[in-house]
Amino acid sequence: MIDVLIIGGGNAALCAALMAREAGASVMLLEASPREWRGGNSQHTRNLRCMHDAPQDVLVDAYPEEEYWQDLLKVTGGNTNEELARLVIRESSSCRDWMRQHGVHFQPPLSGALHVARTNAFFMGGGKALVNAYYRSAEQLGVQIRYNTPVEDLEIQDGRFIAALVPEREVDGTRLPAERIEAKSCVLAAGGFESNREWLREAWGQNERGEYPSDNFLIRGTRFNKGTLLKRMIDLGADSIGDPTQAHMVAIDARAPLYDGGICTRIDCVSLGVVVNKEGERFYDEGEDFWPKRYAIWGRLVAQQPGQVGYSIIDSKAVGNFMPPVFPGTKADSLEELADQLNLPRETFTRTLQDYNQACRPGTFNHTELDDCITEGVTPAKTHWARPIDTPPFYGYALRPGVTFTYLGLKTDDTAAVHFDEQRSDNLFVAGEMMAGNVLGKGYTAGVGMSIGTAFGRIAGRNAASYSMGK
Ligand SMILES: Cc1cc2nc3c(=O)[nH]c(=O)nc-3n(C[C@H](O)[C@H](O)[C@H](O)COP(=O)(O)OP(=O)(O)OC[C@H]3O[C@@H](n4cnc5c(N)ncnc54)[C@H](O)[C@@H]3O)c2cc1C
Repeated sequence: MIDVLIIGGGNAALCAALMAREAGASVMLLEASPREWRGGNSQHTRNLRCMHDAPQDVLVDAYPEEEYWQDLLKVTGGNTNEELARLVIRESSSCRDWMRQHGVHFQPPLSGALHVARTNAFFMGGGKALVNAYYRSAEQLGVQIRYNTPVEDLEIQDGRFIAALVPEREVDGTRLPAERIEAKSCVLAAGGFESNREWLREAWGQNERGEYPSDNFLIRGTRFNKGTLLKRMIDLGADSIGDPTQAHMVAIDARAPLYDGGICTRIDCVSLGVVVNKEGERFYDEGEDFWPKRYAIWGRLVAQQPGQVGYSIIDSKAVGNFMPPVFPGTKADSLEELADQLNLPRETFTRTLQDYNQACRPGTFNHTELDDCITEGVTPAKTHWARPIDTPPFYGYALRPGVTFTYLGLKTDDTAAVHFDEQRSDNLFVAGEMMAGNVLGKGYTAGVGMSIGTAFGRIAGRNAASYSMGK
């Protein structure tokens, strides 16, 4: 019998597989996707947030434990577990040497990368290169890797893992039989439920306008994170944590594909202009804070608008001050023409822009600081970088809510064990998005997803190996 079975094929799963194998256990990893789509959301990532007390290769200055913790406390509004959060933070200071041993390389951030040179270590070649390096290392160490192997159920007895069940399926025209895979221990690292549209619909429900908002959400990452095992585990009595509507959500280009659009679908000019809804009205302070601290609230803000759509509007003064999106925006020489092209009600739109333009007070524009360019007498106010939108050509980008990952997960502790009725399982562990809600009750700070997955993937792999090998 295999010592350690790993379910999932992203960062958390790979960290667990490598640690278990290094400890001497025999390891099998089951990835739902075909080989070419392996790596889940992790393949789309760019960096991880790292604590450090002094400059460390690509990381400048210092980012001490206390500051990291305070950042997490702020973004989650206290909806976090301090013990587990601090464990993640400490692990983030020491994991990079181990990552390098498995072929991950780091680089300083490129300009325009949300100003995180101090706090975040960037993967050279991005998450795709990280995932490829880990798979290569796992293969070399003798981890058995099975693609096209979605687990649909688990056999659990008295809180202990017995076997994983894989349904009959067709792969490249060949019918593969159903399988029952036993192991001495198991690590669940199969992501959140962001790609399960029915579950999103159930969680978000219907709004006061009779709409099902989630029907208009786009999924920024993998189509394979359907939450099948998360749901099964909750049904089987595992303790869960988090709110199913809490997720990392970004406002992204409405032209992005339904899945796997990745980071290049982001629209980063919100703070340089205004955002209106499909009725042509503004609805939130676009200049509330620096964009890196605010980009993750705009997905939810757009989700609350009619039709779950927003339009980021700028004029030619803004061009060059933000990372240009992959696709060009809608361009027009007048605001009336822009309204027509974007299918927005011309009168309301031009009145909104006029009201905003008249409310802009003269100041010294500086996009690198919280400047004194503000509005007065308009609601909502724009509290920084408010300049009239008056210099053609004008540009508009339609925005949709883009779900990065969901936070509902399985409850765990510092051993990464799954809990049933507050009792930890001996041989069933959890890592990554499937338990991120223990640390992230809501909110987000860039790079913490990979810090959580790396820390808990490594702990889960180590503990699963110890159990299986009787240590
Ligand atoms: C566009 C984008 C950019 C991001 N950028 C960053 C960043 O720069 N830094 C950061 O920290 N975080 C970032 N994140 C978040 C980050 O991707 C996640 O926090 C992290 O990758 C989660 O790792 P994971 O291993 O838990 O999940 P995933 O990497 O999603 O892996 C889950 C795996 O489980 C597999 N799976 C699912 N169901 C089953 C099943 N039933 N049976 C078998 N296998 C199954 C999937 O195929 C997948 O391989 C980003 C996410 C996206 C979408």
